[in-house]
Amino acid sequence: MVQDHVGASPWGFESLQPHSNCVRTVREHVFVTHRRATVKQALRLKEQGVPACQIGSSLGVPRKTVADWLAGRVPLHPRSSPIEHCAACDGPGHSFEGLPASYAYLLGLYLGDGYIARHPRGVYRLRISLDTRYPDLVREAAHTMAVIMPASRVGRVLHGARCIEVCSYSKAWPCLLPQHGPGQKHERSIRLTEWQERIVHGVPGLLLRGLIHSDGCRFVNTGRGGWRAPRYSFVNRSAQILDLFCFACDRLGIRWTTTASPSKGTVYVSRQEDVELLDLYVGPKM
Ligand SMILES: [Zn+2]
Repeated sequence: MVQDHVGASPWGFESLQPHSNCVRTVREHVFVTHRRATVKQALRLKEQGVPACQIGSSLGVPRKTVADWLAGRVPLHPRSSPIEHCAACDGPGHSFEGLPASYAYLLGLYLGDGYIARHPRGVYRLRISLDTRYPDLVREAAHTMAVIMPASRVGRVLHGARCIEVCSYSKAWPCLLPQHGPGQKHERSIRLTEWQERIVHGVPGLLLRGLIHSDGCRFVNTGRGGWRAPRYSFVNRSAQILDLFCFACDRLGIRWTTTASPSKGTVYVSRQEDVELLDLYVGPKM
């Protein structure tokens, strides 16, 4: 068996999403007023030199819409609806509905192998540990963290030769990732909030991408006579996180099988057409 860790193919998401249950597909065919914060974030990313197609992928906005904004055709916002204050983190209110689609990717990274630690003065540190052999994947994780929490700087800390930690400090991480809690994830309930469900239901492929990037792999089974077949596996100790993985597969029509041991469960995606479908969202190698 040859390990072939999945990689970060660009999010060719608009052209690759073949499913009618995709939020993006819907958005392209109805009139949508994007939130002011999303437009501002797009303009900020442009100033940083990020290409329009990448801005669109990051924010979950069609490329053409982003091109309009960058050309100065920004939408009018007759009514702004700021949520004034969040009592939980004592900061500005959160616009969960306005979070970009890439939130689902960060959620997958966090649920797979992420960790939130409390620091002094109510600050929390989100960290995702990744393999240094996959720099594109590290870049994608860091970029997504910056998009979701633009006020915080994203740091990278090397641990030995193979492990790099992508991290960000904010008082608001537990608000954005409310699955945070004491103990390990498999020892506590991992239920998505309604707003998280709405995002994940729209872009299940991005959740799978995050889960596999952090806690899964794509490997190649080999056999007699040069037989080779790619396969995905996702391993986790939390039954609820495994269920989420399966749920996202179901949303995309990807068949899966599962095995369980007392300590952990594994979900496999093995049939050729299902691996090809999952490749659209994850990709075989960066
Ligand atoms: Zn908050």
